Amino acid sequence: MRSHRNEFPAQVKIERYNYAKGRCEICGKLIVSVAHYDHFPIPAALGGPGTFNNCRCLCRLCHERVTREHDVPAIAKSKRIAETRMGLRAPKRKMPKHKDPWGRGREQ
Ligand SMILES: [Zn+2]
Repeated sequence: MRSHRNEFPAQVKIERYNYAKGRCEICGKLIVSVAHYDHFPIPAALGGPGTFNNCRCLCRLCHERVTREHDVPAIAKSKRIAETRMGLRAPKRKMPKHKDPWGRGREQ
């Protein structure tokens, strides 16, 4: 079981579930099994509070997808910004173009 940082209190879940009318706030489908509550727009890992305004009521599939596509890059980005601020890395630079030293195509 994952740690429950800034977990949503039951009251917030109830309010959000009712606000969403029992539907996923991303795909709009009626949540048939268990509602998932996502920290949005501020991920829990970045200190997002467990409040109604930082909550989304989602189906399991959408929750899994946003965790992959939103939270992970957002956390990585904030880490980069913090590291840049601390002078640990040079500010944004272009990634060098990947060149295969042997001139082969990418193997699929
Ligand atoms: Zn959904």
